[in-house]
Amino acid sequence: MFRFLSNILDLFLSIWFSPVCPICFNSASSTGLCQNCNPLVPIIGRVCERCGIPLTVKLDVCGECDLLKGNQVDKIRSLLWFTDEAKIIIHLVKFKNRYEWLEIFEDYLRGITFPFIEEGFTLIPVPIHRRKFLRRGFNQSEILLGIIGEKLQHPISFDLKKIKETKPQSLLGGLERKVNLYGSFEWDSKEPVPSKVIIIDDIFTTGETLKACARVLKSRGAEVVYAWTLFRTLDL
Ligand SMILES: [Zn+2]
Ligand SMILES: [Zn+2]
Repeated sequence: MFRFLSNILDLFLSIWFSPVCPICFNSASSTGLCQNCNPLVPIIGRVCERCGIPLTVKLDVCGECDLLKGNQVDKIRSLLWFTDEAKIIIHLVKFKNRYEWLEIFEDYLRGITFPFIEEGFTLIPVPIHRRKFLRRGFNQSEILLGIIGEKLQHPISFDLKKIKETKPQSLLGGLERKVNLYGSFEWDSKEPVPSKVIIIDDIFTTGETLKACARVLKSRGAEVVYAWTLFRTLDL
């Protein structure tokens, strides 16, 4: 009887304390994920020279970029697809403050080739509002910039600020996304805006955040604005 209870207790403890994959809830390996889940799906192949979306036809720019020549962001590149598995991990990081899960992407980022290696560019993270920073404890774009910046040695600026607290863009529709960000970013420095900038952000969805940042930077003197994001949404 005692042995039976002891076995039950062992089983209970092994289930209770064994790491669980946050995506599928099966047993996790040492990486924290199971063997089957993979939130790292790179965007590969030929992409639009302008917006970075994969191209199926032999063109330099996609049809949309050909139409929208007025975009303030001159070039965009994203590293990974924002798959459902990646969404679960990022949700844990951003909304549950499980910062440690960002390490999966950090390790991956250290091995990649950054697409914009030209000299003369300053790296600027997409800022979050001060109150949100205090609530969350970190800005994920700054963390990404820290990792990317280590490899590139480009100058870095934190003078682009978010001055208006806005609803999460992910909760809004197309038109609301544009209006939501109106007047929410500002250049907060006596130093001039660098003439060549690469904005760093975590996720590219409709690009409204990047456009809003680029609009401010260009209105204050930036001539070329590129953007780099860790993820790009699939459902566009
Ligand atoms: Zn899993
Ligand atoms: Zn394009």
